[in-house]
Amino acid sequence: MENIDPFENVLKQLDKVNKILKLDEGIYESLKKPKRFLEVNIPVIMDNGELKVFTGYRCQYNDARGPTKGGIRYHWNVSYSEVKALAAWMTWKCAVVDIPYGGGKGGIICNPKEMSDREIERLSRGFVAAIYKFIGPELDIPAPDVYTNPKVMGWMMDEFSKIRQYYSPAVFTGKPLSIGGSLGRGDATAKGAWYTIREYVKHLKWDIKNTTSVIQGFGNAGAYISKFLYDQGSKIIAVSDSKGGIYNEKGLDPYKVLEYKESTGSVANYPGSKNITNEELLTLECDILCPSALENQITAENAEKIRAKMIAELANGPVTPEADEILIKNGVYQLPDFLCNAGGVTVSYFEWVQNLMNYYWTTEEVYEKLDKKMTKAFRDVISAAEKHSVDMRTASYIVAIERIVDAMKARGFGY
Ligand code: GLU
Repeated sequence: MENIDPFENVLKQLDKVNKILKLDEGIYESLKKPKRFLEVNIPVIMDNGELKVFTGYRCQYNDARGPTKGGIRYHWNVSYSEVKALAAWMTWKCAVVDIPYGGGKGGIICNPKEMSDREIERLSRGFVAAIYKFIGPELDIPAPDVYTNPKVMGWMMDEFSKIRQYYSPAVFTGKPLSIGGSLGRGDATAKGAWYTIREYVKHLKWDIKNTTSVIQGFGNAGAYISKFLYDQGSKIIAVSDSKGGIYNEKGLDPYKVLEYKESTGSVANYPGSKNITNEELLTLECDILCPSALENQITAENAEKIRAKMIAELANGPVTPEADEILIKNGVYQLPDFLCNAGGVTVSYFEWVQNLMNYYWTTEEVYEKLDKKMTKAFRDVISAAEKHSVDMRTASYIVAIERIVDAMKARGFGY
């Protein structure tokens, strides 16, 4: 992975859309900057008795449309710039699916793979103790992201409730079901992505049963999208995780691959498949490529070699602006990240609504509402793409930024 500053990518994308929307200068300036950025340092006693200090961030990027919303990432590459970029993308994401939130994001620089559960719990509680004044159901609502999960959300919600001295489930989403989580939240990112892929496939008059798919990343998003595409009849020819990739031209059964990964720790060396590198995987000939891992995977270096017909971005920021231009020139169909992966935050929104009204929906109700939101967002974006004769990412930006700017103006910011 190249060393590309993710926030620089946000600024380049914004600049491109500003050339079309010609925003008021003050509005444009405020879209380029986060409203608030917190840095905290969290001392944690490790299992061996040693005291370690971890740095964590929370960025509240823009709250014109409502409380800020977005996940917390635990990863060794978390940085100021990455958190800021992810928070900006969350702002556009909530706007494009039209849920009443602004955007935020958090992260802690750590390697959760080398930490025990108890250490992760102490770190998670320490982070909440450091930021609790700045989060809340009407203020900023965190959720899971890379290497965080319902268990972590449970600890965080408990810590917040203890400090505040009242039970407050709506401050975190993506919680375990027993403490206010929503049915359908676990696979929501991939479910939402599937709804947008389904709509695009319909729009292009393809038959999903005649497609081949390649999935980069086999975590929450990647494993579920592999299953959904497989269930719909797409042939999954390659998948990968951080330890390696596997390829089988006759097709892989993602249910079996997941069982294998659960027992060995990786998809690599899956029986009956050929091991391939990340680079080989990304450049395979296929109909649908789903980058479902991290940022900056398709760059100016490899974009020309991409042979996928469609890229459905389940990760945040997997394609750089330079790569974008090459893919657009080569006629690759794109489902940009903050449209394609908005299913997770959409069901987070449903979870928050259920927490606030203390009444819970069935899985079917959640999926139905999610389908409506994602389908409407896809249609809004494709209409904007046609109206302005622009690519899908720029169209997604147009839909999102117009909604955010409307809210800013209605609230009186800068006017
Ligand atoms: N981390 C997810 C995302 O990037 C979900 C955020 C949320 O549910 O607030 O969209």
